[in-house]
Amino acid sequence: MFCVECGKEGPIFKDGACLSCYLKTHRLSKGPEVIDLPVCTHCDSYKYKNTWSNDLFGEVIRRIIKNNFQISRELKKIDINTECKEAKDGKSCKVYVSGFLDDVEITEEHAIQVRLKKTVCDVCSKRFGGYHEAIVQIRTDKRKPTKNEIDDIRTVVENLVKDLQSKGNRGLFITDIGEARGRLDFYMSEKGPGLVIAKKIQGQYGGTIKQSSKNIGMKDGMQLYRMTYLIRLPPYARGDFLKHDNSIFYISSIHGNKVKLIELKSWNETMMDFRTIHKANILGGKELIKEMILVSQTKGEVQLMDPKNYEIKVVKKPKSVSYKSEKIQVIKTENQLFIFPKTKTDI
Ligand SMILES: [Zn+2]
Ligand SMILES: [Zn+2]
Repeated sequence: MFCVECGKEGPIFKDGACLSCYLKTHRLSKGPEVIDLPVCTHCDSYKYKNTWSNDLFGEVIRRIIKNNFQISRELKKIDINTECKEAKDGKSCKVYVSGFLDDVEITEEHAIQVRLKKTVCDVCSKRFGGYHEAIVQIRTDKRKPTKNEIDDIRTVVENLVKDLQSKGNRGLFITDIGEARGRLDFYMSEKGPGLVIAKKIQGQYGGTIKQSSKNIGMKDGMQLYRMTYLIRLPPYARGDFLKHDNSIFYISSIHGNKVKLIELKSWNETMMDFRTIHKANILGGKELIKEMILVSQTKGEVQLMDPKNYEIKVVKKPKSVSYKSEKIQVIKTENQLFIFPKTKTDI
């Protein structure tokens, strides 16, 4: 057969023309030359079909092309690829639409100009407007939180928020963090994560959570409430020493309202409930730990020298351990001296 267009002999594709002649007059894909794409100047989100998303530019542009390009049904196994580079006011992209026409693979190239329209997205405008639906308040009972606690809690909250954001919660953000005179307040855009955060902090530090709500008006025909989660941290913290029933204990860990203690004379571990600890006498924290020089040791005791006044003290070993280090950490309280319980690696 001869092609009616070019006269060459070969297989005819359609309307008497060979494939290459047919393609000269027929485009199999068609799309816009210019696309306007709103982008948030603060968080780089893109808006498409009235919805903002954190998706990458490449993903967004593919979605737009899929929805805006008309591709002939004759083309099978369609694949769309893009190549974009920076251009004035946005990006200039090459779009390659490929597929199979019968069993011949063809690719059509389009040039599109993506005009990035700089604006502020829904979430950022809320954030800059100070919007918040929940406040997580951290307070302490009968003491001030330590600098370490404040820093740790901030890290816990910020990491939790980052984690939830990366799992697709775009609307979640910390509007503001207030820190003054031992008080710490997190202003959160959403209630649900506010409670998650409050429970996480309670899990690590113990204490109580009190919830309260306040009507802050209407939104989409619904009453909107702002929640306050007040966490009151206990008077004690991990690493503190306390006296209970004439024994001295070290708080080795806290899991919600269960507290793990080590009795300093025996190094025996015990669990205590927060109500009991509330009645105990908190002696202090790591400032009570001092270093002494190991002079000698037997199976049952150590001879320690105070580096300040060279006094020698003999202290019973709570457990049969052998010290390699020259310096031993001790706790001196109420005229008693205890060897600080250490992990196996220090012994
Ligand atoms: Zn031809
Ligand atoms: Zn934004």
